[in-house]
Amino acid sequence: MTTFIAVLYIIAFSLFIYGLMGLTGPRTAVRGNWIAAVGMAIAVIATLLLPGMGNWWLIALGLVIGTVVGVPAARRVKMTAMPQMVALFNGVGGGAVALIAWVEFRTTDGYAHEPLYVAIASLFAAIVGSVSFWGSNVAFGKLQELLPGKPITLGKAQQPLNILLVLAAVVLAVVIAAGGSSDWLIIGLLIAAALVGVMVVLPIGGADMPVVISLLNAFTGLSAAAMGLALDNTALIVAGMIVGASGSILTNLMAKAMNRSIPAIVAGGFGGGGASGGGGAGGGEDRPVRSTSAADAAIQMAYASRVMVVPGYGMAVAQAQHAVREMADLLEGKGIEVLYAIHPVAGRMPGHMNVLLAEADVPYESLKEMDESNSQFPQTDVALVIGANDVTNPAAQTDPSSPIYGMPILNVTSSRSVIVLKRSMSSGFAGIENELFFDPKTAMLFGDAKSSVSEIVEELKGI
Ligand code: NDP
Repeated sequence: MTTFIAVLYIIAFSLFIYGLMGLTGPRTAVRGNWIAAVGMAIAVIATLLLPGMGNWWLIALGLVIGTVVGVPAARRVKMTAMPQMVALFNGVGGGAVALIAWVEFRTTDGYAHEPLYVAIASLFAAIVGSVSFWGSNVAFGKLQELLPGKPITLGKAQQPLNILLVLAAVVLAVVIAAGGSSDWLIIGLLIAAALVGVMVVLPIGGADMPVVISLLNAFTGLSAAAMGLALDNTALIVAGMIVGASGSILTNLMAKAMNRSIPAIVAGGFGGGGASGGGGAGGGEDRPVRSTSAADAAIQMAYASRVMVVPGYGMAVAQAQHAVREMADLLEGKGIEVLYAIHPVAGRMPGHMNVLLAEADVPYESLKEMDESNSQFPQTDVALVIGANDVTNPAAQTDPSSPIYGMPILNVTSSRSVIVLKRSMSSGFAGIENELFFDPKTAMLFGDAKSSVSEIVEELKGI
C-alpha cells in the first residue's frame, strides 16, 4: 500500500508541474489548470489512503462544505472579481495550515514529545499561515472595496508596532518550542501573527498591492510546505514548495516591474504618505477638461498611422475587449497599425489585460510590454486609454508624496494625442487624482467603455 501511495503522489506531482507549465501562456492555461486539478484530486485520494486515517464523516463533511462553497463561487465569479476571490481562497489555505498547527499542538501536548524540527516547522507554519490568512482577508477587503484601496497607516507608530508584534510571535514560539504546552501560548501566537498580517497589508496602497498579494500567495505555500515537513507528508511539502517558489518568483518580478523593494513594502515604507493631490475617489474637481464624442474619436483614429490602445481595469469592468478587437480590425482594415500597451499592474491581477485580450483573440504580437510601449508612444498618433487610470498617472513621476510615486507608468502624453475612455472623473484603485485628464493633449470620452468603443465602431464603419 505504501508503494502504491508513493506512486500516486509521484503521478500527482508530475501533473502539478506539467499543469504549471501550461499556465505560462493564455492559450494553454485552461488545460494546465485542469491537469493540475486532476493532480490535486489524485493527491487527496492518496492522502486519504494513508494508514491511520479516520473520522470519515468529518472528512466527508469537510469535502462537502468545500465543494458546496467553492464550486458555485468559482463558477459564478465575475472576471473582475477574480482577484479578490483568489486572495480569499489563498488566505483560506494559510488559515487551514494555522489551524492544523494548532490541532497538532493539542494532540502532541504542545509538541513537548516531538523532535525539535517538528516543533520549529509547525510553529513557522502557524505564524506564516496566520499572517497569510488575515493579510489576505484585508487584501480581499481592499479589492472588494469594503476597505479603502488607499493606504491606512498609523504613521510613525506603524513600524515599531509591526516589529513588536513579530517579536511577540517569535517569543511565544520560543516558549512553546522550549516545552510550553498551555493552549493560551499558541492562541497568543496566532493572534500576534494575525495582527502582523492585518498591520502589514492595511498601509499598502495602489502600486504595492499586487506585490503584497503575490507575497501572501508565497507565504501560504511556504506555510503548507513547513506543515508538510512537520507532518511528514510529501504531498504537502511538494505542493507547498511549488506555490511558495512560484509565488516568490512572481513577487520578485512584480516588485522589479514596480520599482519597489519587498522589505520596504512590508515595512510600510511606501504608500504611507496617503493619497495626495486632492481629488480622491469622489473626483469632485472643478477644473475644466476637454470632452470629445465617439464620432470625433473615430475620425481622429481613422486618420492616424498608429493607434496605441492602453487598457486598464475599466476595460475589464465594461467587458469591452471584444468591441476593442472589432474596432482594431476596422482600423487595421484602413491600414492603421494598432498596438496594445500593457502595464504589469493594469487591472487587478497579474496578466489581467493579457487574459482579457487573448479572450478576444487579439494577436499576442500586438501586445507590447511597458518599456517597449513607452519607446513607441512618440511615434503614436492616438493613445486610446480604455478604463486605465493609475497606470497612466504622471504623479508617479512628479509627486514624491503620492502613494504611487516611483511606480513606472505608461507615458501616454508622449504620443501626439490622448483619448481617455471612462465614465466620470473618479479616481482609480490608488484613490488619487490624475493630471493626465487635465493635460491639453487629452480629450475625455465619458461613458461605459464598451458602449463608447461600440459607438466608435459604428462611426468607423461609416468613414
Ligand atoms: P485603475 O483602478 O487605476 O482605474 C480604473 C478606471 O476604470 C477607473 O478610474 C474608472 O473610472 C474606470 N472604469 C471603471 N469601470 C468602467 C467602465 N465600465 N467603463 C469605463 N471606465 C471604467 O486601473 P488601472 O488598470 O489603471 O490600474 C490598476 C490599479 O490596481 C493600480 O493602482 C494597481 O496597483 C492596482 N492593483 C493591481 C493589481 C494587479 O495585480 N494588476 C492587484 C491589486 C491592485 P470611472 O469610475 O470614472 O469610470
